[in-house]
Amino acid sequence: MTKESVDVLVIGAGPSGCVSASYLHNNDIKVKVVEKTKFPRLVVGESLIPRVMDHFDEAGLFPALDAMNFEKKLGARFIRGEEICVFDFSKKFGEGWDWTWQVPRADFDNTLAQEVIQKGIDLEFESEVLDVKFNGSNSITTVKDKNGNTKEIHAKFIIDSSGYGRVLPRLLDLDTPSKLDPHSSIFTHVKDINRPEGEEGTLISFDILETEVWLWVIPFSNGNTSLGVVGPTDFINSLSTNKDNAEALKNAIQLSEYYIKRFGGVDFLFEPVKLENYSRSVKQMYGDGFALTGNSSEFLDPVFSSGVAFATESGMLSAKLVQRQLQGEKIDWEEEFTQYMKRGIGVFTTYVKEWYTGNLQTLFFHQPENPDVKEKICAVLAGYVWNEDNPFVKKHDSVIKNMAYLLNLEKEQAIKNPE
Ligand code: FAD
Repeated sequence: MTKESVDVLVIGAGPSGCVSASYLHNNDIKVKVVEKTKFPRLVVGESLIPRVMDHFDEAGLFPALDAMNFEKKLGARFIRGEEICVFDFSKKFGEGWDWTWQVPRADFDNTLAQEVIQKGIDLEFESEVLDVKFNGSNSITTVKDKNGNTKEIHAKFIIDSSGYGRVLPRLLDLDTPSKLDPHSSIFTHVKDINRPEGEEGTLISFDILETEVWLWVIPFSNGNTSLGVVGPTDFINSLSTNKDNAEALKNAIQLSEYYIKRFGGVDFLFEPVKLENYSRSVKQMYGDGFALTGNSSEFLDPVFSSGVAFATESGMLSAKLVQRQLQGEKIDWEEEFTQYMKRGIGVFTTYVKEWYTGNLQTLFFHQPENPDVKEKICAVLAGYVWNEDNPFVKKHDSVIKNMAYLLNLEKEQAIKNPE
């Protein structure tokens, strides 16, 4: 069996793995990436949030992405029947990027991976990790290549960015059920033949069909648009009596007053994909000789498009910590990695939960709008969830609930005592 030795082995070439690998390589660490599939490959997660731009920029991956002319995302629109709430990232509280992209992930991830290769990083496609054995922090990983040959990769550290492959959580029994209710999704892409001219045609939108059920509309610069329905698993399963994903998605589109004309009759570009009970969690995010990043550790919910941002945040942070560790520094992984990531995950967990209780929707659609509240929520939606100057970050576990309670009370009183 062939043997290779590297400082750091990165498993998976999604956004998380590419950011990690690029940062390490830029800092003279010998890194190798193994990727199970051949790119471009289909993956969900097409609406980004501004925080990712910090990571792509710092990893030196921004210029290659920028050259692709992906559709610019300047904010996000939420629709509920006749009510509309638009967030504009340039009107957010605090510092940070005020735009990002909405992207077909096959092309986006392929651009990232090709740029990683371009930098001189050893990225091997169609190489699947089968097994990992640890001896202290050193590890031996068994990988099967596209010809069916196996080899051993010796590494001083592993960054597991294997997404839903969840290589180390599976091998080390680290999976634990998510604290979120079971939700599922069905999505596909369409040729957007009825796309309206101007901004309306390119706006990313979330159309609320019922409190817990929503449709995403993500237009791409290539003329296609991603359509997906999300809701409690029982609801998603009830959309088709014979488990036909295409029928289920068509039925969901019929429920959207806003989008039925644009998408009611369009053909799907591929058989819609169902992602059942998509939330994931882990018992621990690191161990001796490894760290888990992106979807290999925690995935919450698509509603605020935080998945890729957490993938790149954890990818970048783990890479920085590994670099310092390899230079001989003692790293407190619990404090610097887990607790840091959990602070951000905690904020988004509250927002996801309060979305599905309807409390956040009460704040979003309240009229007249409160610009002060809106800019603070906008900063959270942009991914700046570690900025504790923002009360909507610092007091996330009480502020939404309390404010929604008061707004609902005000509404009830106005109905009881009309002037
Ligand atoms: P991935 O991008 O999944 O990459 C992991 C890579 O690891 C894959 O290429 C895989 O082939 C490889 N791999 C797996 N197993 C092995 C193995 N054994 N050996 C080698 N390689 C392996 N996020 C957003 O930001 N915006 C959204 O709009 C959004 N929408 C979503 C909608 C739904 C319904 C769901 C379920 C998720 C959504 N997400 C969204 C989340 C997003 O898909 C993920 O958070 C993101 O792709 C995670 O990136 P990653 O780099 O961790 O993993």
